[in-house]
Amino acid sequence: MKRALVNGAGGFIGSHLVRRLKHEGFWVRGVDLKDPEFSSSAADEFILGDLTDPVMAAAAVDGIDDVYQLAADMGGAGYIFTGEHDAAVMHNSATINLNVVDAGRKAGVKRVFYSSSACIYPEYNQKDADKPNCAEESAYPAAPDSEYGWEKLFSERLYMAYARNYGLEVHIARFHNIFGPEGTWHGGREKAPAAICRKVAEAAEGGEIEMWGDGLQTRSFLYIDECLEGVRRLMESEFQGPVNIGSEEMVSINGLAEMAMRIAGKRLRIRHIPGPLGVRGRNSDNRLIRAKLGWAPSRPLEEGLRSTYVWVEAQVRAAVAEPAGAARG
Ligand code: NAD
Repeated sequence: MKRALVNGAGGFIGSHLVRRLKHEGFWVRGVDLKDPEFSSSAADEFILGDLTDPVMAAAAVDGIDDVYQLAADMGGAGYIFTGEHDAAVMHNSATINLNVVDAGRKAGVKRVFYSSSACIYPEYNQKDADKPNCAEESAYPAAPDSEYGWEKLFSERLYMAYARNYGLEVHIARFHNIFGPEGTWHGGREKAPAAICRKVAEAAEGGEIEMWGDGLQTRSFLYIDECLEGVRRLMESEFQGPVNIGSEEMVSINGLAEMAMRIAGKRLRIRHIPGPLGVRGRNSDNRLIRAKLGWAPSRPLEEGLRSTYVWVEAQVRAAVAEPAGAARG
């Protein structure tokens, strides 16, 4: 039986990936600082450990064929774009990647998947909300708008250097805003779809929700199941990447909020307030993934948002029903 390691298995994408790999018949080890928040891990073995510690990284890769390296110090705009966490984001995530790739090489792992991000793309190509350029080759000359993006770019190059010099098989994806049930929905690290679902679920009919910025900034959002499909197809392919794994269905943040309201059956006003925003426009460009893998995500945003809304609304209801603070622990 093939043995897979998922680093970041207590996080949103990692916990779903563990489930997917188990379905496919892998033996799976998960490593994270924390257990998954919303359900127990499906991993055969789950190690609570800190991958900034090289001893832990060596223990994690021991006896492993395939590594999925998703562990990172990250969050939504409220975490990444305020500047307050820059040093921690760069130091922690870079240290994790340095430890994992080197331990993996020494342990003789066969393949490594690395989750990079659309945040590596230059700010100068994403100033127009209607026509952002996120083709893979547009990454250079580099000018990400956050330290999070710079660290991801450094680590992409780190994995490619290990492939070049040590023959390690690596596969690198640039994720574009992955969302779905069992993602962080409150507390400061949540991202736009979950935050909007929460605000809509909490608001009374005819009330209002707050939104950072004018809501005209654009993004695309990819449902978790399609993200995992892309990861698995990339890992089984000959293609190293980096390649975008994202949706090409671009919406404004106002449009996303209106979609959530439609799903909830509520009419609400949007109050625009100052807040951290990121780039003006961003969309996945799927020409390369289509050409290399003969596949690209295709599921409509509204379908995924519906499943996510149902899940977030249930969390909101449970939090209201429980004694103050218990559900948000
Ligand atoms: P997440 O924050 O839910 O998961 C990351 C996990 O890494 C967390 O559970 C965290 O505890 C763990 N971690 C952090 N530091 C650690 C350490 N020192 N040792 C062990 N574990 C540690 O994030 P996610 O949304 O599941 O993202 C997974 C990966 O995909 C990350 O690398 C992220 O940068 C990348 N990515 C995600 C998105 C997205 O939209 N979710 C977009 C682009 C890239």
